[in-house]
Amino acid sequence: MVSRVIPVDPFDLVIFGGTGDLAQRKILPGLFRRYCSGQMPVDARIIGAARSEHDSAEYRAFAAQAIREFSGGRRCEDGTLDDFLNRLEYVTIDARGTDGWEQLASLMRDGVVRAFYFSVAPALFGDLAQRIHEHGMATEESRIVVEKPFGHDLASARALNRTLATHFDESQIYRIDHYLGKETVQNLMAVRFGNMLFEPLWNSQYVDHIQITVAETVGVGGRGEYYDKSGAMRDMMQNHLMQLLCLIAMEPPAKFDPDAVRDEKLKVIRALDPVLPHHIVRGQYGAQDGEHPSYREAVGNPRTRTESYIALKTHISNWRWAGTPFYLRTGKRLKARSSVINVLFKDTPHSIFGEEAGRHANLLTIRLQPNEGITLQVTIKEPGPGGMRLIDVPLDMTFSDALGPEEADFPDAYERLIMDVIRGNQTLFMRGDEVEAAWAWTDPIIAGWEARNDVPKPYDSGSAGPTDAEMLIQRDNRNWRGITP
Ligand code: NAD
Repeated sequence: MVSRVIPVDPFDLVIFGGTGDLAQRKILPGLFRRYCSGQMPVDARIIGAARSEHDSAEYRAFAAQAIREFSGGRRCEDGTLDDFLNRLEYVTIDARGTDGWEQLASLMRDGVVRAFYFSVAPALFGDLAQRIHEHGMATEESRIVVEKPFGHDLASARALNRTLATHFDESQIYRIDHYLGKETVQNLMAVRFGNMLFEPLWNSQYVDHIQITVAETVGVGGRGEYYDKSGAMRDMMQNHLMQLLCLIAMEPPAKFDPDAVRDEKLKVIRALDPVLPHHIVRGQYGAQDGEHPSYREAVGNPRTRTESYIALKTHISNWRWAGTPFYLRTGKRLKARSSVINVLFKDTPHSIFGEEAGRHANLLTIRLQPNEGITLQVTIKEPGPGGMRLIDVPLDMTFSDALGPEEADFPDAYERLIMDVIRGNQTLFMRGDEVEAAWAWTDPIIAGWEARNDVPKPYDSGSAGPTDAEMLIQRDNRNWRGITP
């Protein structure tokens, strides 16, 4: 099976912050991979724009290095690295000054898609939008891509939405949450809405509870200063976990189009119950084997109360989900890197096999990373004589096994999302009202911690998180699924 690659329309893509970490690790290598797949038209052009002084030749050398380091050794079927690099230009630009803008405007071509990727600090988003507009670069074919964090609370997100709306229509604004670009996340929609098997069971009558876990083994690394002002709630829960929750819980949209999908996601966020203080656990990691610093050491603030871990229980107050708890957790320096959604179905109402056969329930596991795939745990008879003993076995669809390594070599989330921007497809991007609704749910939780001077619980690096998080779910006679790679 050979995947179909449909080339996108010709485009000029400007990467503001084109020399930054994100451009280096994700955007440039991602574009190269799409080029290698034959998706980039001959007349596509990529313009790096940042404050540092470079010429285009130096920028190509920078991009070549980034691609060698971060493109995962991609074989290039349709061209060479040099062909790709020839599409790159560089303009030294100051978002807050006048430098470089005339030159950038002169490079823009008419009649092609114009995409402006704001890979800079959010404080510069307003300046960039205004200058693009002032220099006549905002046409109907223009679109802007903005990175997280999108605000740090409801008020700042609203202000940012208003600023961008001054110069761009909502249909031109692409708010990236790279989780939405992951193959399995989209497969979640395919599994739910492309099969008859699951949807009739997808409600509180059959689902006991749902767990969403996004566990990282890394600490805050070099992002300590930023992270300490943010914490796991703002950095992960408000966006990535919330988006996964929406996709797992939303009603079937009438069609797979951007607004139909996003309308349904928005309804989920608006139906979320406020989280009670005793339904949430914050944690902060300690040092590990004298090798890795503790959270406090990493951020250089011995008194910080910012959380690097969060676990919470919430409910969705609607007909489908009333009574089904959703347990969400995310943290740094945990025992394994694993992003997974577990849908735990209820026990059968009655066991015909007697007590000794034990109680068994189905489990649907959707693994986002690593090892993307879906597993359905079903109950069967334990083979052999000696009576009716039941065991649970997985029906496993690890994508790389089911599709073969070639087919399962999915585009990285950034690759897919950038091509969606060029195609003008907003389905996998967050709409302004979604982001605001997510903050409206998050803000009171954070305000509650501040009012109570809440101190995060310590947890060991390399563990599954604070013991209080175990108690949060055990109080309901349930257990977290293990965090395994
Ligand atoms: P970075 O600090 O590595 O790079 C910032 C870039 O902005 C540099 O190219 C710099 O030259 C440019 N810049 C700074 N001030 C400028 C100005 N006045 N005018 C023009 N250019 C200017 O940052 P990054 O890690 O690449 O992050 C960029 C954005 O992406 C941020 O909003 C960040 O929150 C977001 N983000 C980054 C990551 C990541 O993995 N790095 C992940 C998610 C979101």
